[in-house]
Amino acid sequence: MKRTTGQDRSKTTRWRAATQAVRGGTWRSEQGETSEALFLTSGYTYDDAATVAARFAGEQDGMTYSRLQNPTVAMLEERIALLEGADACRVQASGMAAMTAALLCQLSAGDHMVTARAAFGSCRWLGDHLLPRFGIDVTVVDATDNAAWEAAIRPNTKVFFFETPANPTMDVADLEYICGLARAHGITSVIDNAFCTAALQRPLEFGADVVAYSATKLMDGQGRVLAGAVCGNEEFINDKLLPFQRNTGPNLSPFNAWVVLKGLETLDLRARRQSENALKVGKFVADRVPVIRHPWLDSHPQQKLAMKQMDACGPIFSMVLDGGREQAHAVLDALELIDISNNIGDSRSLMCHPASTTHHNMGPEGREAMGIGEGMLRINIGLEDPDDLIEDLDQAFSKAGL
Ligand SMILES: *Cc1c(COP(=O)(O)O)cnc(C)c1O
Repeated sequence: MKRTTGQDRSKTTRWRAATQAVRGGTWRSEQGETSEALFLTSGYTYDDAATVAARFAGEQDGMTYSRLQNPTVAMLEERIALLEGADACRVQASGMAAMTAALLCQLSAGDHMVTARAAFGSCRWLGDHLLPRFGIDVTVVDATDNAAWEAAIRPNTKVFFFETPANPTMDVADLEYICGLARAHGITSVIDNAFCTAALQRPLEFGADVVAYSATKLMDGQGRVLAGAVCGNEEFINDKLLPFQRNTGPNLSPFNAWVVLKGLETLDLRARRQSENALKVGKFVADRVPVIRHPWLDSHPQQKLAMKQMDACGPIFSMVLDGGREQAHAVLDALELIDISNNIGDSRSLMCHPASTTHHNMGPEGREAMGIGEGMLRINIGLEDPDDLIEDLDQAFSKAGL
């Protein structure tokens, strides 16, 4: 195996994101294959006992076991790190494995974390239920309120954890302010960047320390595999994440890593086209529903901030209907092209009712506090012709009395 671009990584780090997504981190075997090789192997063999001893002693480069290293997985990790502009990346079996590893690898009993109120349901579960069981205190704040982050800081605060835009309220948090505040207090900021990926938003450029992903979403982008990733500096990845990951084993399968590598080749193209489509469809939806939450529209309270930190609006937005769950379900049931599905980032347009699906477990009070009403619908705009999506929504809205 050798790097196609030579051993000097610094030569490849200057490539722009779209190039990294296609080329970054490519290694080729002696066969010279065009597409990355899939090493579906759990273990490795050695020519002699001295070789394996040297590898275990850390005196010789080389793979020893796929929980520790795998060539296909390593290519994906290098490509994501180059895309993100991070020193290093490790991938995990799902987005939630990534979030759990990114938090548990650095937090201990007696520590404190501040997290955002509006977030993916399972991310909230980590802070509400898992971390407190291990003696880690968690404060939940309105992520759009910069002063609330500062007010929540305690002497033992170790981590700020949030996503932007947030699922499904589309709240936009101020990356530069919040990450800067964290740095000034020696707090590690962990940003869940699943809604954008590095194609549309690069938190490290705004001072973030760690960027964590559900690669299930835009990175795969075709609804095939679960995957996660954590990016950060050498010290965080090597000294904190790696010992945790190697010994607890939330590893991504080489097959799924290969699928995500194929997904990344078209990430830039998909993220931009889906954003263009989401803007066109969003403008149509804005005229038909009482409330739309779309980061690129004038009605969004943080539109300016969104445009400062994102390159495009991304594929996802939400809307709020006056007729509650009944009307929201009626819209979903009337769809002919768009699928009823709770996934996002997919190349197909998908729509869901968060209160009865992704945020069902939070209960009515939890949802109320997060700003998720019974009339909210979330949509992921795919790669179909946006005019077909508009026609489908038009007829579904009409059938639901909008
Ligand atoms: C989907 C999602 C996750 C969880 O990722 P999985 O791959 O489903 O485990 C975490 N955060 C956000 C913002 C997500 O959209």
